Amino acid sequence: VIRCRAAVAWAVGKPLSVEEVEVAPPKAGEVRIKIVATGICHTDEHVLKGCFPNVEFPVILGHEGAGIVESVGEGVTSVKPGDKVIPLCLPQCGECSFCLNPESNYCLKSHFSEPQNLLPDKTTRFTCKGKQIHHFLWVSTFAEYTVVPEYAVAKIDPAAPLDKVCLLGCGFSTGYGAAINTAKVKPGSTCAIFGLGGVGLSAVMGCKAAGASRIIAVDINKDKFAKAKELGATDCINPQECKKPVQEVLTEMTGHGVDYSFEAIGHAETMIAALASCNMNTGICVMIGVLDSGSKISIDPTLLLTGRTWKGSALGGWKVRDCIPKLVSSYLEKKFNSDLLITHTLPFAKVNEGFELLRAGK
Ligand code: NAD
Ligand code: ZN
Ligand code: ZN
Repeated sequence: VIRCRAAVAWAVGKPLSVEEVEVAPPKAGEVRIKIVATGICHTDEHVLKGCFPNVEFPVILGHEGAGIVESVGEGVTSVKPGDKVIPLCLPQCGECSFCLNPESNYCLKSHFSEPQNLLPDKTTRFTCKGKQIHHFLWVSTFAEYTVVPEYAVAKIDPAAPLDKVCLLGCGFSTGYGAAINTAKVKPGSTCAIFGLGGVGLSAVMGCKAAGASRIIAVDINKDKFAKAKELGATDCINPQECKKPVQEVLTEMTGHGVDYSFEAIGHAETMIAALASCNMNTGICVMIGVLDSGSKISIDPTLLLTGRTWKGSALGGWKVRDCIPKLVSSYLEKKFNSDLLITHTLPFAKVNEGFELLRAGK
């Protein structure tokens, strides 16, 4: 058993509490990882606000991390102690019908498909003050050590700087892949990205990498515009400063609407606005933002009748265990610079300050 620090979420709406926890050794088919760095994604914030009633508390959140394998359980062959890894919040078991389908990246062993947020054998490896603490999306990266199933671990290049490539565990891969894999943005096309957090800015980078000629960035926080332009946005719009609904503004700017639109916020209204912003025939709208569970969206069905496509994207459509190591290699070859997304670096004890910065749009 390892004793180390972890940020425990004891209850909905309460700040995280950095505590000493015990982390049990990995069982068969599991890997214990020393987490070196982790990002904060808005999905962690959704859970803290209680948007996912199926996530049981107390829980250790965090799902955008990178670390080093400390020990492995019986039968684990793909990684060994000392390997650099990214724990995968969307696993790839390689055996389920979705994993066997080359078109799909959603594994049926995902935590989203599990009734309980524990490890596959329905027990936890975390205890704190004698209480069992739940896992999150298999990975729980807000802990100095975590235990994850082998099918949720990707071995990466030993040269990778873990404090930088942790972003590839969720935010960067999600936005970048939504443009490249899910929308399949074509050279010369027009794109609109709603929401310029880590995910939306990564979608801007993906559209740029795919050769889009016009990239329109939309956010109510104008402080995000300079970074969006640095990453490839050609225009920036604040819907609160528009006299018309933003979908009308975008349609007028582009003639008939953009070729591809992306929603990286997680609100019903902006999902509808993003859908209506892409052109009525060949337009593709990709939904990335996460809505509270149980939310409903009501749309005019004629929006789809004329040919528009509305699709969702989980972790950017990558088959994660195969693709995250390749993305890390592309990062090392400087094919993209995800370092530009890093706004603040804090010591682990200041994790709540990190959430405050996220809430403040910083
Ligand atoms: P973030 O908080 O860093 O960024 C959200 C941005 O949206 C902010 O810049 C904010 O100013 C902007 N915004 C808020 N309301 C707006 C409005 N009405 N109009 C325009 N802009 C608005 O969040 P993030 O970490 O980038 O995550 C974005 C979303 O993506 C979240 O819902 C998160 O849960 C989701 N997500 C989904 C996946 C996936 O696999 N599908 C993965 C990661 C994150
Ligand atoms: Zn995330
Ligand atoms: Zn699978």
